[in-house]
Amino acid sequence: MIIAIDGPSGAGKSTVSDEVAKILGFSHLDTGAMFRAVAYGALKNGVDVSDEDGLAQIAENDKIVFETEDGNPAYKSILMAGEDITSQIRTDEVTKAVTPVCKHPKVREALLRQQREIGKSGNYILDGRDIGTVVFPDAELKIFLDASAEERAKRRVLQNEQSGVGSTDYDEVLADINRRDEEDSNRTVAPLRPAEDSVQLDSTLKSKQEVIDEIVRLAKEKQSENA
Ligand code: C5P
Repeated sequence: MIIAIDGPSGAGKSTVSDEVAKILGFSHLDTGAMFRAVAYGALKNGVDVSDEDGLAQIAENDKIVFETEDGNPAYKSILMAGEDITSQIRTDEVTKAVTPVCKHPKVREALLRQQREIGKSGNYILDGRDIGTVVFPDAELKIFLDASAEERAKRRVLQNEQSGVGSTDYDEVLADINRRDEEDSNRTVAPLRPAEDSVQLDSTLKSKQEVIDEIVRLAKEKQSENA
Protein backbone atom coordinates (compact mmCIF):
# COMPACT_ATOMS: atom_id res chain seq x y z
CA MET A 1 0.00 0.00 0.00
CA ILE A 2 1.19 3.51 -0.84
CA ILE A 3 0.28 6.54 1.28
CA ALA A 4 1.02 9.91 -0.36
CA ILE A 5 1.42 12.92 1.92
CA ASP A 6 1.74 16.24 0.10
CA GLY A 7 1.60 19.81 1.26
CA PRO A 8 3.55 23.06 1.60
CA SER A 9 6.83 23.61 3.45
CA GLY A 10 6.65 23.24 7.19
CA ALA A 11 3.21 21.59 7.37
CA GLY A 12 4.77 18.76 9.41
CA LYS A 13 4.68 16.13 6.65
CA SER A 14 7.97 14.48 7.52
CA THR A 15 7.45 14.24 11.27
CA VAL A 16 3.89 13.00 10.89
CA SER A 17 4.92 10.51 8.18
CA ASP A 18 7.62 9.02 10.42
CA GLU A 19 5.16 8.51 13.25
CA VAL A 20 2.40 7.08 11.04
CA ALA A 21 4.92 4.74 9.39
CA LYS A 22 6.05 3.53 12.82
CA ILE A 23 2.48 2.76 13.90
CA LEU A 24 1.54 0.99 10.66
CA GLY A 25 4.88 -0.78 10.18
CA PHE A 26 5.50 1.03 6.88
CA SER A 27 8.69 2.54 5.47
CA HIS A 28 8.96 6.30 4.90
CA LEU A 29 10.56 8.19 2.03
CA ASP A 30 11.15 11.94 2.48
CA THR A 31 11.33 13.08 -1.15
CA GLY A 32 12.16 16.68 -0.19
CA ALA A 33 15.45 15.36 1.24
CA MET A 34 16.28 13.95 -2.21
CA PHE A 35 15.85 17.36 -3.89
CA ARG A 36 17.86 18.92 -1.08
CA ALA A 37 20.63 16.36 -1.68
CA VAL A 38 20.86 17.35 -5.35
CA ALA A 39 20.97 21.05 -4.39
CA TYR A 40 23.76 20.29 -1.91
CA GLY A 41 25.67 18.33 -4.57
CA ALA A 42 25.36 21.29 -6.96
CA LEU A 43 26.70 23.78 -4.42
CA LYS A 44 29.55 21.47 -3.48
CA ASN A 45 30.61 20.78 -7.07
CA GLY A 46 30.13 24.32 -8.36
CA VAL A 47 27.26 23.34 -10.67
CA ASP A 48 25.03 26.34 -11.35
CA VAL A 49 21.38 26.00 -10.31
CA SER A 50 20.39 26.90 -13.90
CA ASP A 51 22.51 24.10 -15.43
CA GLU A 52 19.80 21.48 -15.99
CA ASP A 53 22.07 18.82 -17.51
CA GLY A 54 24.72 19.22 -14.81
CA LEU A 55 22.10 18.93 -12.08
CA ALA A 56 20.43 15.94 -13.74
CA GLN A 57 23.80 14.21 -13.84
CA ILE A 58 24.12 14.63 -10.07
CA ALA A 59 20.56 13.33 -9.56
CA GLU A 60 21.25 10.29 -11.75
CA ASN A 61 24.77 9.37 -10.72
CA ASP A 62 25.29 10.39 -7.09
CA LYS A 63 23.42 7.66 -5.29
CA ILE A 64 21.24 8.83 -2.41
CA VAL A 65 20.94 6.35 0.45
CA PHE A 66 18.73 6.69 3.52
CA GLU A 67 20.17 4.81 6.50
CA THR A 68 17.69 3.62 9.08
CA GLU A 69 17.99 1.80 12.37
CA ASP A 70 16.27 -1.55 12.71
CA GLY A 71 12.51 -1.18 13.00
CA ASN A 72 12.56 2.63 12.83
CA PRO A 73 11.19 4.20 9.61
CA ALA A 74 12.75 7.60 10.41
CA TYR A 75 16.12 7.82 8.71
CA LYS A 76 19.14 8.26 10.94
CA SER A 77 21.32 9.63 8.20
CA ILE A 78 21.29 10.39 4.51
CA LEU A 79 24.30 9.71 2.33
CA MET A 80 25.06 10.99 -1.15
CA ALA A 81 27.83 9.32 -3.12
CA GLY A 82 29.00 7.91 0.23
CA GLU A 83 29.16 11.28 2.06
CA ASP A 84 27.00 11.83 5.14
CA ILE A 85 24.95 14.95 4.30
CA THR A 86 22.25 14.67 7.01
CA SER A 87 22.63 18.14 8.49
CA GLN A 88 24.23 19.78 5.43
CA ILE A 89 20.94 19.54 3.48
CA ARG A 90 19.11 21.61 6.14
CA THR A 91 21.22 24.77 5.91
CA ASP A 92 19.68 28.04 4.66
CA GLU A 93 22.02 27.93 1.67
CA VAL A 94 20.60 24.57 0.51
CA THR A 95 17.02 25.66 1.33
CA LYS A 96 17.48 28.62 -1.04
CA ALA A 97 19.16 26.60 -3.79
CA VAL A 98 16.62 23.77 -3.79
CA THR A 99 13.79 25.88 -5.28
CA PRO A 100 15.49 26.56 -8.63
CA VAL A 101 16.98 23.04 -8.67
CA CYS A 102 13.66 21.22 -8.30
CA LYS A 103 12.06 23.14 -11.19
CA HIS A 104 14.11 21.35 -13.86
CA PRO A 105 12.19 18.56 -15.61
CA LYS A 106 15.32 16.40 -16.02
CA VAL A 107 16.09 16.58 -12.30
CA ARG A 108 12.49 15.69 -11.44
CA GLU A 109 12.51 12.77 -13.90
CA ALA A 110 15.71 11.32 -12.45
CA LEU A 111 14.36 11.48 -8.90
CA LEU A 112 10.89 10.33 -9.96
CA ARG A 113 12.36 7.08 -11.30
CA GLN A 114 14.13 6.47 -7.98
CA GLN A 115 11.04 7.38 -5.94
CA ARG A 116 8.87 4.92 -7.90
CA GLU A 117 11.49 2.21 -7.62
CA ILE A 118 11.81 2.64 -3.85
CA GLY A 119 8.05 3.01 -3.25
CA LYS A 120 7.04 -0.11 -5.12
CA SER A 121 9.26 -2.28 -2.94
CA GLY A 122 6.70 -2.52 -0.11
CA ASN A 123 4.32 -0.60 2.11
CA TYR A 124 5.50 2.99 1.85
CA ILE A 125 4.59 6.48 2.99
CA LEU A 126 6.09 9.09 0.69
CA ASP A 127 5.96 12.77 1.53
CA GLY A 128 6.57 15.67 -0.83
CA ARG A 129 4.73 18.04 -3.14
CA ASP A 130 3.66 15.89 -6.09
CA ILE A 131 3.39 12.34 -4.71
CA GLY A 132 -0.39 12.02 -5.13
CA THR A 133 -0.49 13.93 -8.42
CA VAL A 134 2.60 12.68 -10.29
CA VAL A 135 4.76 10.09 -8.52
CA PHE A 136 2.02 7.71 -7.35
CA PRO A 137 -1.28 8.91 -8.87
CA ASP A 138 -2.77 5.51 -7.93
CA ALA A 139 -1.77 5.71 -4.26
CA GLU A 140 -4.42 4.06 -2.08
CA LEU A 141 -4.48 7.00 0.34
CA LYS A 142 -3.63 10.61 -0.46
CA ILE A 143 -3.40 13.31 2.18
CA PHE A 144 -2.89 17.00 1.55
CA LEU A 145 -1.53 18.40 4.80
CA ASP A 146 -1.72 22.15 5.21
CA ALA A 147 -1.50 24.81 7.95
CA SER A 148 -1.41 28.61 7.92
CA ALA A 149 1.95 30.11 6.87
CA GLU A 150 2.29 31.76 10.30
CA GLU A 151 1.79 28.47 12.15
CA ARG A 152 4.22 26.68 9.85
CA ALA A 153 6.84 29.39 10.43
CA LYS A 154 6.36 29.10 14.21
CA ARG A 155 6.87 25.31 14.07
CA ARG A 156 9.89 25.61 11.78
CA VAL A 157 11.59 28.09 14.14
CA LEU A 158 11.10 25.65 17.03
CA GLN A 159 12.48 22.79 14.97
CA ASN A 160 15.52 24.84 13.90
CA GLU A 161 16.13 25.88 17.51
CA GLN A 162 16.13 22.24 18.56
CA SER A 163 18.34 20.99 15.73
CA GLY A 164 20.67 23.99 15.73
CA VAL A 165 20.48 24.12 11.91
CA GLY A 166 18.68 26.81 9.88
CA SER A 167 17.36 30.26 10.79
CA THR A 168 15.60 30.88 14.11
CA ASP A 169 14.39 34.34 13.12
CA TYR A 170 10.58 34.16 12.78
CA ASP A 171 10.24 36.92 10.13
CA GLU A 172 13.00 35.42 8.04
CA VAL A 173 11.51 31.91 8.26
CA LEU A 174 8.01 33.22 7.41
CA ALA A 175 9.34 35.11 4.38
CA ASP A 176 11.09 31.93 3.21
CA ILE A 177 7.93 29.86 3.65
CA ASN A 178 5.88 32.40 1.65
CA ARG A 179 8.52 32.45 -1.08
CA ARG A 180 8.57 28.64 -1.32
CA ASP A 181 4.75 28.39 -1.31
CA GLU A 182 4.61 30.84 -4.19
CA GLU A 183 7.35 29.10 -6.19
CA ASP A 184 6.17 25.54 -5.46
CA SER A 185 2.59 26.39 -6.48
CA ASN A 186 3.44 28.31 -9.62
CA ARG A 187 6.12 26.19 -11.26
CA THR A 188 5.13 24.57 -14.54
CA VAL A 189 6.37 21.05 -13.77
CA ALA A 190 4.63 19.14 -10.96
CA PRO A 191 3.32 22.19 -9.08
CA LEU A 192 2.10 21.89 -5.51
CA ARG A 193 -1.64 21.25 -5.55
CA PRO A 194 -3.94 18.77 -3.83
CA ALA A 195 -4.79 15.66 -5.87
CA GLU A 196 -8.50 15.59 -6.68
CA ASP A 197 -8.98 12.43 -4.65
CA SER A 198 -6.91 13.58 -1.66
CA VAL A 199 -8.14 14.10 1.87
CA GLN A 200 -7.32 17.67 2.88
CA LEU A 201 -6.19 18.09 6.47
CA ASP A 202 -5.58 21.52 7.97
CA SER A 203 -3.34 21.16 10.99
CA THR A 204 -3.29 24.84 12.08
CA LEU A 205 -5.47 24.16 15.12
CA LYS A 206 -4.62 20.47 15.52
CA SER A 207 -1.91 18.87 17.59
CA LYS A 208 0.63 16.60 15.93
CA GLN A 209 -1.00 13.62 17.65
CA GLU A 210 -4.45 14.49 16.28
CA VAL A 211 -3.08 14.59 12.73
CA ILE A 212 -1.25 11.27 13.22
CA ASP A 213 -4.38 9.60 14.64
CA GLU A 214 -6.50 10.85 11.75
CA ILE A 215 -4.11 9.55 9.09
CA VAL A 216 -3.75 6.18 10.86
CA ARG A 217 -7.54 5.91 11.02
CA LEU A 218 -7.88 6.66 7.29
CA ALA A 219 -5.11 4.19 6.42
CA LYS A 220 -6.73 1.40 8.46
CA GLU A 221 -10.05 2.15 6.78
CA LYS A 222 -8.38 1.75 3.36
CA GLN A 223 -6.60 -1.40 4.47
CA SER A 224 -9.85 -3.06 5.52
CA GLU A 225 -11.59 -1.92 2.30
CA ASN A 226 -8.79 -3.55 0.28
CA ALA A 227 -8.58 -6.73 2.41
O1 C5P B 1 10.00 19.13 2.01
P1 C5P B 1 11.24 19.99 1.91
O2 C5P B 1 11.02 21.40 2.34
O3 C5P B 1 12.43 19.37 2.55
O4 C5P B 1 11.54 20.02 0.34
C1 C5P B 1 12.60 20.79 -0.18
C2 C5P B 1 12.18 21.41 -1.52
O5 C5P B 1 12.05 20.38 -2.50
C3 C5P B 1 10.84 22.13 -1.46
O6 C5P B 1 11.02 23.52 -1.36
C4 C5P B 1 10.16 21.78 -2.75
O7 C5P B 1 10.25 22.86 -3.62
C5 C5P B 1 10.94 20.63 -3.33
N1 C5P B 1 10.18 19.39 -3.45
C6 C5P B 1 9.55 19.11 -4.64
N2 C5P B 1 8.89 17.93 -4.82
C7 C5P B 1 8.82 17.03 -3.83
C8 C5P B 1 9.45 17.29 -2.58
C9 C5P B 1 10.10 18.50 -2.42
O8 C5P B 1 9.59 19.93 -5.56
N3 C5P B 1 8.19 15.87 -4.04
